[in-house]
Amino acid sequence: MRYQKKIEAIMRFARITVSILSILGVGALAQRVSPQSLAQPAKAKRIVIAASAVLDGKGRVLRNTRIVIEASKIVAIDPKAGPVDYDLRGLTVLPGWIDAHVHITWSFGKDGKNAGEGATTQESAYAAASNAWVTLMAGFTTVQNVGSAAALRDAIATGMFPGPRILTGIEALPGRGDQTGTPDEIRTYVRKQKEAGADLIKIYASGGMLQGRMTLSQEQLNAVCDEAKKQGLRTLVHAYSDAVPAASLAGCTQIEHGLGATDDDLKLVAKKGTYFDPQAGLLLENYLLNKHRYAGTPFFPKTEEGFAAMEKILPMNHELMQRAVKIPGLKIVFGTDAVAGAHGRNAEEFIDRVHDGGVDPMAAMVSANSLGAEALGMADQIGSIAAGLQADIIALDGDPLKDITAVRRVVFVMKGGVVYKNWARATIH
Ligand SMILES: [Zn+2]
Repeated sequence: MRYQKKIEAIMRFARITVSILSILGVGALAQRVSPQSLAQPAKAKRIVIAASAVLDGKGRVLRNTRIVIEASKIVAIDPKAGPVDYDLRGLTVLPGWIDAHVHITWSFGKDGKNAGEGATTQESAYAAASNAWVTLMAGFTTVQNVGSAAALRDAIATGMFPGPRILTGIEALPGRGDQTGTPDEIRTYVRKQKEAGADLIKIYASGGMLQGRMTLSQEQLNAVCDEAKKQGLRTLVHAYSDAVPAASLAGCTQIEHGLGATDDDLKLVAKKGTYFDPQAGLLLENYLLNKHRYAGTPFFPKTEEGFAAMEKILPMNHELMQRAVKIPGLKIVFGTDAVAGAHGRNAEEFIDRVHDGGVDPMAAMVSANSLGAEALGMADQIGSIAAGLQADIIALDGDPLKDITAVRRVVFVMKGGVVYKNWARATIH
């Protein structure tokens, strides 16, 4: 009975959401997503997509084929399947992207200034929902949030409103030397995160971008990453310079940023199979683009000179990426570190990586598809276009292998078999 009421409440909310969105002119959503499908994404209807070029997410290109979907999953790749529901020929079809590092709740406040990621006003709650919506519309069907967004994760998962699938931390571990705690205390902290519903643990093992000093000892890093592994949680480590090999040696899952890492450090990261997530541009470009909104807010420079110093880090990011792509076997995943102002523009990082970081366009796509899924421990569910996987499918107007800026032109978005965006032709002529 209580359950029934809850469903009714969700349905009511979904109906209101859809009416609001249709008033706002979000036609594709209003047409394709009925309130029922929002509440129950697993529709039983069979859907066939026709495509002339499919990047399968693992580095292969499939030509002139059809993707068959039932409920939330892909059930077949069959060139003879029909009738066709969505004709995406002429576009590039690929798995929905995965962003391994976002701060999805981070927004600008009512005054237009940076409000950070922990804001708790009504405006910030709507802003977080909007961040989720624009991220999904930009082709990102799964994101890993390194801050705290359990309520948003669960709201989207239960169909309250549309957004990417979210994996999230709850409470990060800030490195404060000895004050962080003994290895036993750190292990207790990890178990608490698990109980609180965390999907991952974010660890700060270094100071800011240009202060590479370690803020956790090797022993402390070993404790947090070992305990997390025992609890089935992945560990994402904010690490510069010496913290990079230390996190890898501790058996942590993924290293974020990585500035100051030497080639030998990167070789160690490759050997240990640690995922590596350096950013090539969007993060800093976004701070610079929005400097009037960030200036003077906590942790940000007050002056032009402060931002000019930030600008000088950009070429260092490019140089790190250029070296990283040359390290054999290094598993570079796609994480943007998207904050306020960058949500929905996550794909800009692909362009930075390819244009400035020397990343091969196909490798850039795979980093946000099958490799990204593997890093999440979800390779059997997302990140590829293959039978048995979730129907997370997007289409680009253009070929990103020839012109990476095609990633800006996402014209079709399906997540779990539900179409949220369809700016393509709807039928075969
Ligand atoms: Zn971050």
